[in-house]
Amino acid sequence: MIDVTVDAKIDVIALDADDTLWHSESRFQETQARLSEILDRHAPHAQVQDHLHELEVRNIKLFGFGIKGFTLSMIEAAIEISKGEITADEIHEIVMMGKAMLEMPMELLNGVPETLAELAQNFPLFLITKGDHMDQYNKIEKSGLADHFKEIEVVMNKDVASYGELLTRHGVDPAKAMMVGNSIPSDILPILELGGHGVYIPYHVTASFERHESEPDNPRYHRLSNIAALPALLKETNGGT
Ligand SMILES: [Mg+2]
Repeated sequence: MIDVTVDAKIDVIALDADDTLWHSESRFQETQARLSEILDRHAPHAQVQDHLHELEVRNIKLFGFGIKGFTLSMIEAAIEISKGEITADEIHEIVMMGKAMLEMPMELLNGVPETLAELAQNFPLFLITKGDHMDQYNKIEKSGLADHFKEIEVVMNKDVASYGELLTRHGVDPAKAMMVGNSIPSDILPILELGGHGVYIPYHVTASFERHESEPDNPRYHRLSNIAALPALLKETNGGT
């Protein structure tokens, strides 16, 4: 007889990195706030933020996600908003702001190392993050968490096709995978569509690209306030074992 409860059990846990394991978006927002101050005499802060966001969206196809592309978009925004009046010193400051972001010390979110250590005893853990390869690998290295992961994947996009390809390549049945992250569009919706479980752990600020209107209505959707609650959720999902 086929035991469907056993079939439905989670056997792989995949985790997002930025704003799920460590702080990231708050740093982007602090830097954007500083850009608005630099451009104070040219435009109101809200206009600077809107224009920067438009440029980032337009540039993503060329630069991908990450700090280097963000820095170039800040320079482009500064030149356009100031109608070419931005000074070389101010552009230099923007470049230094980008470099400072790349060099910032790693700050893990509460409960992350203990929870990963606990989960890694029972499950293969995958790290699935999107962004600039060099920046992402530097952060993984600095985090000291790499040893907990069986697989580390830096992808261009987090959509149904990329998750499907990645899971298939590693021989993982999506129905038995649980993806954990802070973005509904990037971490949750694709895995739900593939038949797996999605665990949303909100971060206190959300990148403009990752905003969503509502939470999914799906029995395989879960929401936690902290990663430390993940082992208990897995016990519950896998039938208390
Ligand atoms: Mg994230």
